[in-house]
Amino acid sequence: MKWRCNYCGFEGDASRTYYWRCPRCSSPLSLDYPVECEFSSSNVVWERYSGFTPFKPSKWRGEGLTPLVSEKTSGHTLLFKLDYLNPGGSFKDRGTALSIAYAYMLGYKKTLVDTSGNTGISVALYSKLYGLEPTIVMPKTAPVGKKKAVLKLGGRLVEAESRTAATQIVEEYIGEPGVYYVGHLWSPLYIIGHATIAYEVYEDYGVPDYVILPIGSGGLLLGVVYSFEKLRECGFMEKTPRIIGVQGYSCQPVYRALYGVEEKGEDSTLADGVMVYNPPRAGEVAGKIREHGGDVVLVGNTEISRAHSELWQMGFLVEPTSAIVYAAYWRIREKIPSNSSILMVLTGSGLKTLL
Ligand SMILES: [Zn+2]
Repeated sequence: MKWRCNYCGFEGDASRTYYWRCPRCSSPLSLDYPVECEFSSSNVVWERYSGFTPFKPSKWRGEGLTPLVSEKTSGHTLLFKLDYLNPGGSFKDRGTALSIAYAYMLGYKKTLVDTSGNTGISVALYSKLYGLEPTIVMPKTAPVGKKKAVLKLGGRLVEAESRTAATQIVEEYIGEPGVYYVGHLWSPLYIIGHATIAYEVYEDYGVPDYVILPIGSGGLLLGVVYSFEKLRECGFMEKTPRIIGVQGYSCQPVYRALYGVEEKGEDSTLADGVMVYNPPRAGEVAGKIREHGGDVVLVGNTEISRAHSELWQMGFLVEPTSAIVYAAYWRIREKIPSNSSILMVLTGSGLKTLL
């Protein structure tokens, strides 16, 4: 497997050296590896989709292969992908499982990440699994339950003034000997890990007409698009779904990358998990949305709060950030043709945000 920079042409041997971004031009990197168009019948996600991933993690804690729940409503088939049921309570476990297995393979001893919360739990969980020491830098405004989970998992928690300050703090530690900077906003391992969501949906249902996804760093959206593109290249399907990304009015970098302007609206502070102000792959995310005939929908706190309550009433115990996809569905549902199927990925457990 090989690192590749699509901006300056840099290439590097990924089985020997880790780069969290391009060492030559500081852009996000891609990972090249051979893909085999085959699924197995294993109930371990990394064995089932080993043809689509660069290596198989040596440890597994039940991440992936989450349930897909179908609900018919107002002429649509809603497909809820319950990714909040992953071991660390969020979809991030798919990317983290690959990323930390890779850190272990390369002999790192410590892990480091800046996060709004869920990635911190995930990195602490998998670091401990492989015997690595995790340092998690999180804004002090992050939900208390997420901080407690990191500590309970044995992570070293550093609290920052804000999400941006968290990134500034990790910059001081990156490059220290033996420290693996997870860099989940940058790492293609997260994109490849999150891609397993769409292989599972394809096996459980087929190809939905629409996919509605939250955008923080955009890694989830890029992963899901990547896997639908791979399925098309493999000849499993002809048409990819329309991709709808969701951001809040308070933080809309991908909307800005797509349209060149920001739109005014109600604050979206309830969706703290997608408050990534300067995602390194924003342009790439906007490009993929354009390529797949999609759009970015913006939502505010009133809609998020209503969607969150409704999801709980329906039996989906998600955190407020995860409700933005359902809020977006309500915003655009009249524009979606009847008989369409709409996949919504429910990303994070609400149990961590109750404390
Ligand atoms: Zn480069």
